[in-house]
Amino acid sequence: MQEGTLLAGLPRIDAGADARGPRRLFVKSYGCQMNVYDSQRMADALAREGFVAADQPDDADVIILNTCHIREKAAEKVYSELGRLRKLKDGAATAGRRVMVAVAGCVAQAEGEEIIRRAPVVDLVVGPQSYHRLPDLLARAELGGGVVDTEFPAEDKFTVLPPASRAAIRARGVTAFVTVQEGCDKFCTFCVVPYTRGAEVSRPVVQIVEEVSRLADAGVREVTLIGQNVNAYHGAGPDGRPWTLARLMTRVAEIPGIARLRYTTSHPRDMLDDLIAAHRDLPQLMPFLHLPVQSGSDRILAAMNRRHTRADYLRLVERLRRAQPALALSSDFIVGFPGEGDQDFRDTVGLVEEVGFAGAFSFKYSPRPGTPAATMESQAPEPLKVERLAVLQAAIDRRQAAFNAGCLGRTFDVLMEKPGRRPVQLVGRSPYLQAVQALAPPQMIGQVVPVTIVEVGSNSLFGVVNEASGRTRPEPLAAVPGA
Ligand code: SAM
Ligand code: SF4
Repeated sequence: MQEGTLLAGLPRIDAGADARGPRRLFVKSYGCQMNVYDSQRMADALAREGFVAADQPDDADVIILNTCHIREKAAEKVYSELGRLRKLKDGAATAGRRVMVAVAGCVAQAEGEEIIRRAPVVDLVVGPQSYHRLPDLLARAELGGGVVDTEFPAEDKFTVLPPASRAAIRARGVTAFVTVQEGCDKFCTFCVVPYTRGAEVSRPVVQIVEEVSRLADAGVREVTLIGQNVNAYHGAGPDGRPWTLARLMTRVAEIPGIARLRYTTSHPRDMLDDLIAAHRDLPQLMPFLHLPVQSGSDRILAAMNRRHTRADYLRLVERLRRAQPALALSSDFIVGFPGEGDQDFRDTVGLVEEVGFAGAFSFKYSPRPGTPAATMESQAPEPLKVERLAVLQAAIDRRQAAFNAGCLGRTFDVLMEKPGRRPVQLVGRSPYLQAVQALAPPQMIGQVVPVTIVEVGSNSLFGVVNEASGRTRPEPLAAVPGA
């Protein structure tokens, strides 16, 4: 989960530029990587209309909040931000400047007109399937009255949205997300995604290959293919037949310049045989998999409509590790789901130990309006959720610390991404997405270099570039204590 502002990728101008100069855009992104990607695509669409990046909301003519609806807290954050923006907008109006506020993303999709009723500061509400209409919608919103577009239009937004400029790609760095699939048909009983993002849709292979080729041409070395349920990918191939995610990745791996591939987020039910085999056969595919399990209790998994059991999950992990012994796993967990008893919870903590996750996200169950679990009996009291979250998080932290400690002395291929904390330092990512700091010249940004880990910190690993080692894959995890 990420939250951040989106500045990279748009041309910049000085804060003091002429008020009649280019209009300035500020995008704040909440939630998952899919929102980060969408925010970039919205910025690309408005760059075409002459927009430049504002450093902060106070300097912007248009402010977009790209929102997340997955948990109640995420949606409430948006309303508090809108309260702050009302003051900002009123202040700008007093100074004779018009500021437009737009709400995009899953809160926009779920709440539609209600947002403008509750927060009249908002000029435009735009759902995730209508981003290609953004320039027109903004023009309409400027006429006043509030505009809402939460349709699931017939046209494919990806064929209309303009590609990022080379300058925008370069400003965003050497790694990139590419959405290949949207929506979800799984209907887990706790989840709003099938309602806010709609049914599963996959982009055609040719469209994805074109986009990744543009990214690679501009210097991107690592691509993460993303989707709400990415391994359900079934986009049309150039042969007119549906391709699996594994087949798509094999094609994307052939694009010159692409050194590393990742994919997220996957559902255990959709881990097909060819995807498991890709972890063995595709050297560009990083040996790190985010595979949400949600609970270690079969009773709760059934109530969640996850359509897999604890044993199914463990079997899957075993098959994946057999295919790729260097594989490490992370996961998502929900605590305090309706009806979760002490034993169910112990089973979840036990699963963390049994699998030995290298990391995981854990969340308190948050009832989402319109989902089946929200009206189930035996909703857990908040203090119980808080207590269980702390216990589970401690178990996850212990496993993560053991995993990181096991990296000491090992040599990893690290993709150098950007300047580090100190002047002659670069920071990159290990195959396991750990931040690695190492002394290295700036020319190494964008290169994959072997780095031997000499110190394990709380947030990053510290290493020494070790060109002589010639490693191309990490050592199998069997060698790592605590894995
Ligand atoms: N598609 C992915 C999957 O099936 O695991 C997850 C997508 S969801 C954006 C990310 C995570 O948010 C989920 O894995 C789940 O742990 C958490 N989540 C979703 N709905 C939730 C809810 N109502 N309360 C708490 N956590 C929730
Ligand atoms: Fe939500 Fe993931 Fe379940 Fe789909 S598979 S309903 S996105 S948790």
